[in-house]
Amino acid sequence: MTTFSDLGLSQKVLSAVTDAGYVTPTPIQAGAIPPALQRRDILGIAQTGTGKTASFVLPMLTLLEKGRARARMPRTLILEPTRELAAQVAENFEKYGKNHKLNIALLIGGVSFEDQDRKLERGADVLICTPGRLLDHFERGKLLMTGVEVFVIDEADRMLDMGFIPDIERIAKLIPFTRQTLFFSATMPPEIQKLADRFLQNPERVEVSARSSTATTVTQRLVASHSKDYEKRAVLRDLIRSQDELKNAIIFCNRKKDVADLFRSLDRHGFSVGALHGDMDQRSRMTMLANFKDGNIKLLVASDVAARGLDIPDVSHVFNFDVPIHAEDYVHRIGRTGRAGRSGASFTLVTKRDTKFSDAIEKLIDKKIEWHNGDLSALPPAAESDERERPRKGGRDKDRERGRGRDRQDSHKADTRKADDRSDTIDQEKRVETVKAERKNEGRPQNTVRNQRQPHAPYPANDDNRDRRNRYRRDEDDGPTPLGFGDEIPAFMLIAGKA
Ligand code: AMP
Repeated sequence: MTTFSDLGLSQKVLSAVTDAGYVTPTPIQAGAIPPALQRRDILGIAQTGTGKTASFVLPMLTLLEKGRARARMPRTLILEPTRELAAQVAENFEKYGKNHKLNIALLIGGVSFEDQDRKLERGADVLICTPGRLLDHFERGKLLMTGVEVFVIDEADRMLDMGFIPDIERIAKLIPFTRQTLFFSATMPPEIQKLADRFLQNPERVEVSARSSTATTVTQRLVASHSKDYEKRAVLRDLIRSQDELKNAIIFCNRKKDVADLFRSLDRHGFSVGALHGDMDQRSRMTMLANFKDGNIKLLVASDVAARGLDIPDVSHVFNFDVPIHAEDYVHRIGRTGRAGRSGASFTLVTKRDTKFSDAIEKLIDKKIEWHNGDLSALPPAAESDERERPRKGGRDKDRERGRGRDRQDSHKADTRKADDRSDTIDQEKRVETVKAERKNEGRPQNTVRNQRQPHAPYPANDDNRDRRNRYRRDEDDGPTPLGFGDEIPAFMLIAGKA
């Protein structure tokens, strides 16, 4: 069996790996590290959860030891599609690089430029960035990238989804052609293959899991539900309460509005819950995530974009409040649990209108997912539950003490009534169309303001850039920010996580 010391890593790196408690390299590490150390380009096909971060950080650290530090010039550049992922990679870098004296600059949107500028002025060996913020720094004249020797493009398929490919092409032109490129993607659609062909020279291809695989340690179940949101919420609550083994869970919704509605509903029902979506400011997102990781919050409601790639090591459950309309998103969502050989459980609420999407998922993962408590034909008629469970306008919160089952509690706040009424009247098909339209808009960077602007018009040097640049994120294009998010996060949820 391959061990870390067989891979050619430096002593400093090996010692940090031992301190991290890792005994054997994961397959992506065993496959990618040796050729990366020989300065080969890598095409890594691997999802988060496979140990892929270490597969590029560990050889990078070893290579950085070998070369000479150049004053003020970054020697390595890592691009990540989201700020959380970038922050996570930076954390990994600190962990694996604890025996190195390297300066790391984390350049992400949503936080002020000043601290980042200061880091750059002092000289950074390693840049870990989201593409937009990196280009902002470059345009402000704060960055010279001609010393970059190793270039990592992580989560390339996500970059494509988010319309970042033109930015990446631009960045690639700002760094030396002779660099080494390590390119990672969870999936390899033709557009990504073309991109890899353009960016990589004679790469070592390391593929660790088929595109459609879900971990065998995850128990997957479909849960039949009627289609109204309040009915789905009742099903979800019962399901959560029935899970004795539930330690913590991520609950996925397709749209940010549904993230907001579900978060508010669960909160009112007394669950320990937080939420993550793209419109929250950076501080709120990071604090929310830290609170979830530390166990201060048990449930996290999230959209695909906000949660993609986040490394939360021991999530026991994943709930899909909505069936993802893109089957590959299912694989990513389920990948939040059952990591590193642990067992996990996932439940996907399915209504009659969702069956074509659940069928597509079963086709992609090439297996039938069992129903939990009977399939759709076993549901009681919808009309019965309609009257009983529909939130009453102006009703009082009498049912709270009774705990489970009904959503009448939802009616005790005026804003909630409006939200529930709205969501209850939106036709499911229309919602699917909305999600599809959002997805369709993604990956069309020619429509972005970046490409429409006057050639010499500078970007305003503020965080508004982020919104412009990320406009094709699927959960940011579906209307105004729901109430109760962004700056309106309840104070108790922003209590600092444990140190
Ligand atoms: P990643 O795919 O990079 O997000 O890593 C997923 C998780 O696996 C992280 O929590 C890592 O700390 C952990 N990990 C990475 N490599 C190993 C290893 N060789 N052995 C055990 N855990 C690992």
